Amino acid sequence: APRPMTDEDVPPGLRKVANIIAVSSCKGGVGKSTVSVNLAYALHGMGARVGIFDADVYGPSLPTMVSPEVPVLQMRVEGDDRIIMPTEYEGVKLVSFGYAGQGSAIMRGPMVSGVVNQLLTTTDWGELDYLVLDFPPGTGDIQLTLCQAVPITAAVIVTTPQKLSFIDVVKGVRMFAKLKVPCIAVVENMCYFEADGKRYFPFGQGSGQKVVDQFGIASLFQMPIKPELSASGDTGKPQVIVEPAGEVARAFSELGASV
Ligand code: ADP
Repeated sequence: APRPMTDEDVPPGLRKVANIIAVSSCKGGVGKSTVSVNLAYALHGMGARVGIFDADVYGPSLPTMVSPEVPVLQMRVEGDDRIIMPTEYEGVKLVSFGYAGQGSAIMRGPMVSGVVNQLLTTTDWGELDYLVLDFPPGTGDIQLTLCQAVPITAAVIVTTPQKLSFIDVVKGVRMFAKLKVPCIAVVENMCYFEADGKRYFPFGQGSGQKVVDQFGIASLFQMPIKPELSASGDTGKPQVIVEPAGEVARAFSELGASV
């Protein structure tokens, strides 16, 4: 069983972060980053101070989804330490490997799971109500080290309605349960689309509800297939246009109030 984290274990740059939310999925391409970004901007829209950490080294998607004016991370040197300063777009702080490219010494060298931790834990996040961690897909080493490096308040699991994904979600729920991180929501993305005033469920219905029932997760959110969502993801200007992101944000803000 994991040892509970004491204040001293928390990296200095994260000590003023009230809630850390892990957004996780077992597979790539299910909309995890879309949910992370929508959730972050929905929380920001509710008046919270928010940051997003994109933990995907191999395919960082934050730079595609959010294009800040200064798409690089600055560094501050304090004695022997180098402290990373997040970049920002419309009031939300952003850190991703995709912003760490040009001229930034921290990114030289082999990219291992330690580097993910380093980027997260040597960043000065300042005072935040929520830090959204966009986890890399899967339930392996990188995910485990992330969970052990910082105190995660709660997790949200993103899936699509297909059966295989359901099995994956169970893996995700079990991983967080082992680490004593409560999994408070499942987002079932690309669940349905609307045409001619009707809802169509191309992949069937019910797996999300099954996960919620079996594992006692508080909320299930169904997110439709929306061409606008994909388009806004590609332009670098996030628009919170999908209502479930707002609902998920409200679920988390209630959690924030109770911790
Ligand atoms: P992941 O982070 O799980 O790999 P992304 O969030 O990058 O997935 O989404 C994969 C692609 O699908 C992106 O191009 C994104 O814009 C698109 N997408 C995700 N969710 C939806 C949705 N509900 N409707 C339309 N397009 C979506």
